[in-house]
Amino acid sequence: MGISKVEICCGEKDETHGIKVHINDDNATLQDLLDAWQPLCDDEKLRKLYAEGQHHACRACKVNCCNTAYVIPDLIAFKKMAALNRLDYPQFVARYFQQEKLKAGLLRMQPNPCIFLQNNLCTVYPVRSLICRFYLCCKLAGETEQLIYSLSWTGAAATQLFAEERGLLQTSPEYGLTSFDLMFKELIEDYRHDPNVQLFMQAGEYSDIPLAPFI
Ligand code: SF4
Ligand code: SF4
Repeated sequence: MGISKVEICCGEKDETHGIKVHINDDNATLQDLLDAWQPLCDDEKLRKLYAEGQHHACRACKVNCCNTAYVIPDLIAFKKMAALNRLDYPQFVARYFQQEKLKAGLLRMQPNPCIFLQNNLCTVYPVRSLICRFYLCCKLAGETEQLIYSLSWTGAAATQLFAEERGLLQTSPEYGLTSFDLMFKELIEDYRHDPNVQLFMQAGEYSDIPLAPFI
C-alpha cells in the first residue's frame, strides 16, 4: 500500500506536541486533508478537553461546541449548504444567517445553538464548513493549527467577497459590533487580499484546492 498524500499523527508520542498533519505529496489537496482529518472526530482514544469523560466522540457530544460556535462558512460550504437546503443565495442568507450581523457586514450563521444543530447532531454534516470540520477540542501542533486556521479564514474571506459581489450584505459600518465581531471582521480583512482567496473563488470542490500554497 502506498503512502497517503496526507497523514495525521496523534499517537502517544505526539500527545505532548499535539495532533500534527504531515503532507507527503506536493499535489495533495484540501480534500485529502479533510479525508485524513475526519476520523479524528470519532476517535475515542484522543483526549478531548470538553468531551464527556474526555474521550467521547464528537457525534452527539452533549457539551457540543456547535452550541456556541461563531461560524462564518468558507465559500465551498456556503454554496453546498444553500444547495442542500434548495435555496438560492439571498434566501439562504435571509433564513440561516444572523440578521443583525449581516447589517454589520458579517456572514455569521445563526448561533446559540447553531441553526443546523438538532438533538446534538449537525443536520448539514457532510457539507459543514471548514471551521466546523477542523475544530477539535484537542491539542494541536503549532504549524497544524496555523495551516487549518489559514485554510478556514481564506475560505471565509472568499465567502465575504462572493457575498459582497452579489450584494448579499447590507454594510453599515456604524452598526454596533461586539469585540468578537470586530476580531472576525479584522481577520476577514487580513485575508481578503491573500491571493489564495482566488483558489476558493474558482473551486467547486475541496479537491480543486491545492494545499501547497497554504504551507
Ligand atoms: S470538538 Fe466539540 S463536539 Fe467534539 S468533543 Fe469537543 S466540544 Fe464536543
Ligand atoms: S454547521 Fe453543523 S458542525 Fe457547524 S456549528 Fe452548525 S451544527 Fe455544528
